[in-house]
Amino acid sequence: MKIRAENITISYKKKARCIKALDAVSFAPAAGEVTVITGRSGSGKTTLINIMAGLLKPTEGQVYYDDMAVYQADDEQLSAFRNMNIGYIPQGASALAGLDTMQNILLPSVLAGTDKTADAEKLISAVGLERLKNACPDELSGGEMRRLAAARALINSPSVIFADEPTNDLDDENAALILKLLKAQAENGAAVIIVTHDSAAFAYADRVYIMDGGRLFNKENEHEDTLCRPLVS
Ligand code: ADP
Ligand code: MG
Repeated sequence: MKIRAENITISYKKKARCIKALDAVSFAPAAGEVTVITGRSGSGKTTLINIMAGLLKPTEGQVYYDDMAVYQADDEQLSAFRNMNIGYIPQGASALAGLDTMQNILLPSVLAGTDKTADAEKLISAVGLERLKNACPDELSGGEMRRLAAARALINSPSVIFADEPTNDLDDENAALILKLLKAQAENGAAVIIVTHDSAAFAYADRVYIMDGGRLFNKENEHEDTLCRPLVS
C-alpha cells in the first residue's frame, strides 16, 4: 500500500494567536521500512502521525492510502479501514478499563469480526505480559501499558504502524524488545513510522527525519533549510 501525506498544514487557534503546528509537510513512508521521526517536544510529531492515521483533519493538504483520500472518506468507511490496516501505538495510557490485557489486545480483531486468540497469545508472550494476561489496566505499570498497546496495535497484522514514543516508560531491555518487534513488522512488509526522542530507535531505522517547528527535514540535512519532500511517484 502506498501512503503519502501531501502538503499538510494545520493551525490551532489559541486565544488571539494562531499556531501553525505543521507547515506544508509532505511525507511518504515506505512499506518494508522503519521510518523514525525525531525532534523536540512540541515540534509537531504527534500531530503529524495523528493526521496520517486519519484521526485529525488537517487545515490544508490530504493523506492518501493508495487512491483513497483519507479526509474525503466517510467516517464509517474510514473507521473500518483504520481498524484493518493501521496499527497505532498512542502516547500515554489507552487500554479500556473494563477489559483485561487479553481482551484489550483482542479488541481490534473483535471489531473486525475475527478470532485472533492464538495470535494474541503469541503477541502477549512476545511483549512479556503472560503473567498479566488477565490483569486489568489499573494493575499495569506505565511500561506494561505501553507493551499492551504495542501488542494491540499488531493484532490485525496492519500494513501501516504508527508508534508515538513507543519506548517511553520502558527499561532498555523492554525498549529493545518493542523496537525489535516493530522492526520485524517492517521486515514482513509493513510501513512502520516511529516518532520518538529516544535515540535508541535510530539503530532500527531505515530512514530518520527531524521535525522542527512543524517542518520535516532529512536527518542528513538537519542544518539546511530544505523542506523534506520524499514523495515517490
Ligand atoms: P510533539 O509530539 O512533537 O511534542 P505535538 O504534535 O504534540 O508535538 O504539538 C505540536 C504543537 O501543536 C505544539 O505547539 C502544541 O502545543 C500544539 N498543539 C497540539 N495539539 C493541540 C491542540 N489540540 N490545541 C492547540 N494546540 C495544540
Ligand atoms: Mg508527541
